Amino acid sequence: MSEQNLSSTCFQEAQKHLVGGVNSPVRSFRSVGGSPVFIQSAQGSKLISVDGKRYIDYVLSWGPMILGHANPIVVQAIKEAAEKGTSYGAPTESETILACLIKDFYSSIEKVRFVSSGTEATMSAIRLARGVTNRPYILKFKGCYHGHVDSLLVSAGSGALTQGAPDSAGVLDAFTQYTLQCDFNNIEDVQAIFAKYGQQLAGVIVEPVTGNMGVILPKDDFLKQLRQLCDAHGSLLIFDEVMCGFRLNSPGGAQELFGVAADLTCLGKVVGGGLPCAAFGGKAEIMDALAPLGDVYQAGTLSGNPLAMAAGTATLQLLKDGEVLDLVCNKVSYLVSEMTSFFQSKELPIQVSHCGSMFSLFFNEQPVYNMTDVSTCDFKMFKNFHNNTLSRGVYFAPSQYEANFMSVMHNDKDLEATLTAINSIRL
Ligand code: PLP
Repeated sequence: MSEQNLSSTCFQEAQKHLVGGVNSPVRSFRSVGGSPVFIQSAQGSKLISVDGKRYIDYVLSWGPMILGHANPIVVQAIKEAAEKGTSYGAPTESETILACLIKDFYSSIEKVRFVSSGTEATMSAIRLARGVTNRPYILKFKGCYHGHVDSLLVSAGSGALTQGAPDSAGVLDAFTQYTLQCDFNNIEDVQAIFAKYGQQLAGVIVEPVTGNMGVILPKDDFLKQLRQLCDAHGSLLIFDEVMCGFRLNSPGGAQELFGVAADLTCLGKVVGGGLPCAAFGGKAEIMDALAPLGDVYQAGTLSGNPLAMAAGTATLQLLKDGEVLDLVCNKVSYLVSEMTSFFQSKELPIQVSHCGSMFSLFFNEQPVYNMTDVSTCDFKMFKNFHNNTLSRGVYFAPSQYEANFMSVMHNDKDLEATLTAINSIRL
């Protein structure tokens, strides 16, 4: 069968049995008008499709695979754990080990609760914030995505936007009536919300460096001002670092990079080394309000799963000394600077934004600071760019709203091949 045919055949078959042929909407490549590549295997920086084609992968399972695919140390850790049984529904030392590692990275975290997805982490953190403050309102930012939690599916970025449905059917008004929204990077907007709802605001949840409307950095003192407003009004500051955690030029995440401690932090993706795992944590006095100590209920059959703990521990141990993070961030800096020079030399209206090991290409004449700016991007041009780079073996995120990621396994040859592919397309 010729190249690409097998992926198309697999997709046609999948659509008969799986909704839209996928188990998470953005994988369907709808926003780039294509048919998804079906993956056979992955190794290092490469995805290998069922058609036998190799792609330089900048999606990396949407972030987790910072060490590259099938890292031998992580694979070995998973194998050893699996041989001892895959789940017990009872405590293991491996949970304490990974919790301690997380605490080494994040000084604001005193206690951790493991869950199986980022969605569960944010959902539980919100419940906890409401439980400990006894207040109803939550403030989120337009374009930030915190998983498919009912109350947070309001102006949610990436997947929801990509599908052209920023708010989901099935989410009752009653579930979102206590969700307030502001523009990211607009502190006046936030001040106005605090002025009106301050005493009823349980917390503010934010992607401190956004990824779900593309990579956007917080302006100046934006995060510090959020901290001050929360302190002044007794609201909790929740950093959703599910995506940017372990991906910035600072082991302590956005909190260390911007010098702002969160009350609660949500982690996912890298923390599970590519297995279903996420976590949330924070000050002991807040976390201890969770069951079994407190009266905020939260639970999970597979939470703290031993395979996920093994993969997460192996991954974080390799990241701990900061060298890998530096290396990966340097690769992004190089790629971004080369791309920017090229786009400028061709006078192409493309802004390359990056932070740590995450980057985005905004097809826009102007720099992008919030969701309104992102919505003015040239989506047709993005689609053209994506289809063309994909056909040249470079697998970028199939949506203008998504971030791209680097792994330590991307070598010079990969970076040069990526630049060659970009240079050879006509936009
Ligand atoms: N929070 C952020 C910032 C995310 O990027 C995501 C997913 O991409 C989530 C939460 C939800 O995580 P999950 O897809 O594991 O439920």
